[in-house]
Formats: sequence, C-alpha cells, structure tokens
Amino acid sequence: MFNEIISDIKTKVETYAKECGRKPEEIKILAVSKTHPAEIVKQSLLDGIENIAENKVQEAELKIPLLNGLYKEFHYIGHLQSNKINKLLKLNPDLIHSIDKISTAEKLNTACQAINRVQNILIEVNTSGEESKNGIDPILLEDFFVKISKLENLKIKGLMTIGTLTEDVNEIRRCFRQLKYLFDIHKLRNFENISLEYLSMGMSNDYKIAIEEGSNIIRLGSIIYGNRNYNK
Ligand SMILES: *Cc1c(COP(=O)(O)O)cnc(C)c1O
Repeated sequence: MFNEIISDIKTKVETYAKECGRKPEEIKILAVSKTHPAEIVKQSLLDGIENIAENKVQEAELKIPLLNGLYKEFHYIGHLQSNKINKLLKLNPDLIHSIDKISTAEKLNTACQAINRVQNILIEVNTSGEESKNGIDPILLEDFFVKISKLENLKIKGLMTIGTLTEDVNEIRRCFRQLKYLFDIHKLRNFENISLEYLSMGMSNDYKIAIEEGSNIIRLGSIIYGNRNYNK
C-alpha cells in the first residue's frame, strides 16, 4: 500500500541530497502518523519506513506498544507536558525533539534519574518568530545549553525547528538557515557534556529546502499518510 510512496520519497531525498553534495544516508526519515491508527503505521513499516514519530503522548501510548519490534527508532516530536513525562519514558523514545523549557528539562532529568536512564534530547528553537509556535527564542539558546549541560541524565544531541507556515520559500529557508547557524556556532563552543549531531528540520512541504540547508532528520507526515482527520 505504501511501497510506491515510500520509495518515491527515498528517491527524492537521495536526489536532493546529491544535488547539494550531501550523503543521502546521513538523512534520517521520520514517519509522522498522527491521527492515523497503528494498523496503518504497521503497514508503512512493512513497506519500507524504519523510524516513526508521534507528537502526542496519549496517542503514542496507544500505538507504540502495538508496533514493538517493527521499527528501528521512535522519536517524540510534540510539546511535552510535565505530567506526561513518565508515560513517555515507558515508551522508550530514542530521541525527544521538543524540549523548550528549563523546567521541563529538569523534570525530565529527575524522572530519568529515578529509572537510571540517559535520555537523548533536542532543543526546539522558534525560528519563525511566530508567538503561537513552541520553541525557545534563539537568544536564549546559550543559557539553555549552560543549564541543561549540568543535568546528568539528559544529553543534548542537536536542535529542532518548525519552519514558518508560508508559501514564501525565502522565509522558510531563512528559518532553516538560522537553525543551522545556531547549530554550527554552538558546536564550536564544545560545551561539556553536549555533542551536537542532529538538525531536525523539514516536513512534507519543505523538506527539500531543509535538506539543502543541512537538515539530517526530516519529519514527514501527510506526504506519507495523506490528510489528517482530527474528528475521528
Ligand atoms: C505533524 C508534524 C510533522 C509532519 O507534518 P507534515 O506537514 O504532515 O509532514 C512534523 N513535525 C512535527 C513537529 C509535527 O507535529
């Protein structure tokens, strides 16, 4: 059912990467199946998807246990409320993309300490300047790194952003370029306890631009699973 779509996406990612002199195998594709049931995700895993992502803990709790053994990595990409932390950790997320509050990071660290777990995280940065978006203001990033690098059960692995929702390609590119810039300058700082590897940016409508700007994790939803139905 998904074979064609998935091989088409993989071919495109390969082409876009090569066009800008990058190695396609460095780019991780995450399948974002929000609102679609576990059976659908299962089919996509059988048809070539390797890594999956959810943006709501409640939905992940229903789906992830049904997919055990079928996926390589499970990433959590949504806003994380502190009262959902323990539930999320039970699902063993390989990477949490969306840390944008020191208080959430501290609570996550404490929860990880209690179960003797070291959790890989990304910091979500608001590059669009839209107030409705999650993510920290880029000027706070430095302070964030300093504070979170002291939390021993968290490992900052990189940065994540959501590009501005617009038709304006230049504006989308500006967001991604800013995240790459922040990634590069903080990588040079060599903060203790931090190794920046991942740049999570690019969704169904803008992953080509994201690849051109250096993304190595793209998060694809509707291009794989079709439109979302929030009414079900
Ligand atoms: C839904 C979602 C995606 C995927 O969006 P599409 O436009 O459907 O590809 C990517 N990242 C996050 C954080 C999301 O919530």
